[in-house]
Amino acid sequence: MKALRWHGKGDLRLDDVPEPTAPAPNEAVVEVAWCGLCGTDLHEFLDGPHMIRTGPHPLTGQGPPLALGHELSGRVVALGGPAPGIEVGDRVTADPVWSCGSCWWCLRGDYHICPRSGSVGLASPGGFAELVTVPLSGLTRLPDNVSDEHAALAEPLAVGLHAVDRAGVRPGDNVLVLGGGPIGTAVVMAARLAGVSGLYVSEPLAGRRELLHGIGVTEVFDPGATDVRREVFLRTARIGPDVVIDATGIPALAAQAVATVRRGGRVVLAGVGHGSVEFDMGQLVFYERSVLGTLGYNFDIPRVIGLMSTGRLDPAPLLTGRFPLSAGAGLFAELAADRARHLKVVLTPKGL
Ligand SMILES: [Zn+2]
Ligand SMILES: [Zn+2]
Repeated sequence: MKALRWHGKGDLRLDDVPEPTAPAPNEAVVEVAWCGLCGTDLHEFLDGPHMIRTGPHPLTGQGPPLALGHELSGRVVALGGPAPGIEVGDRVTADPVWSCGSCWWCLRGDYHICPRSGSVGLASPGGFAELVTVPLSGLTRLPDNVSDEHAALAEPLAVGLHAVDRAGVRPGDNVLVLGGGPIGTAVVMAARLAGVSGLYVSEPLAGRRELLHGIGVTEVFDPGATDVRREVFLRTARIGPDVVIDATGIPALAAQAVATVRRGGRVVLAGVGHGSVEFDMGQLVFYERSVLGTLGYNFDIPRVIGLMSTGRLDPAPLLTGRFPLSAGAGLFAELAADRARHLKVVLTPKGL
């Protein structure tokens, strides 16, 4: 079968590879319909490895070269064990997180922060292929009214839902989101579902600010031209936002988020960032602010599918491009060079 495999930094190849073997009891094999291209995939391509291990992954035993892609939908072709409510032939999406199932975190349901966890498409061959092996326990059957291409967006939307849950967003809250890329947009959509009153976004790229209009954002700011902290302060009766969610991973913006959130407010860091953040301890202590991290999702993908199916969540604005898998490395390079053109693009091995 064809698979778009990561061999190293800047080296993606459309390879002919053997089909997956019969699934183990905790695995299922899915024939891929669509697979979304994630910022993580772009980073692995541009200057990786980051999440990819150069050797075998401690849990899956697999390593590069491997197909990227962890935001997938498709049809079940083999089940390694019983999967309640799911049969071979069903249309599904998958929670791509492999976890050990036996550690302290897994046993209390926090599989997403299992110390040995890894994702399909980073710790095992991913969905940029005709067939993919995924965790059996992560399958969600798709209702007829959720399309394959929208189902491929469930994973990034689950990241937004989880971040908003972590932030404890309540109806009527004012929320500021830093960064209007795919994850920032997923956060915006989830915050709307939580019933916020004011929803503000700070995004430096004009193209992305354009894309954010029309999905119910109160106001989108250009941080290069505006003092975002002051403008949101003025629009929230000189109180400040209840919640600031960073979807950039830029250390300086995390510090800015702390300075921006209201007294008693919550900052949630959702961007995959590295590096030190500096702020005065008093900014937390004297103002009783909280700073939290959020990672991926924890049983949130079925919730997203339910929200799509009931019409509460329209994922369409997030999806800006459809490409064949054969577009390959060229597409990755194009997207990296012009980040404002697209929010989420999906690839299909079946041809358009
Ligand atoms: Zn992703
Ligand atoms: Zn575990």
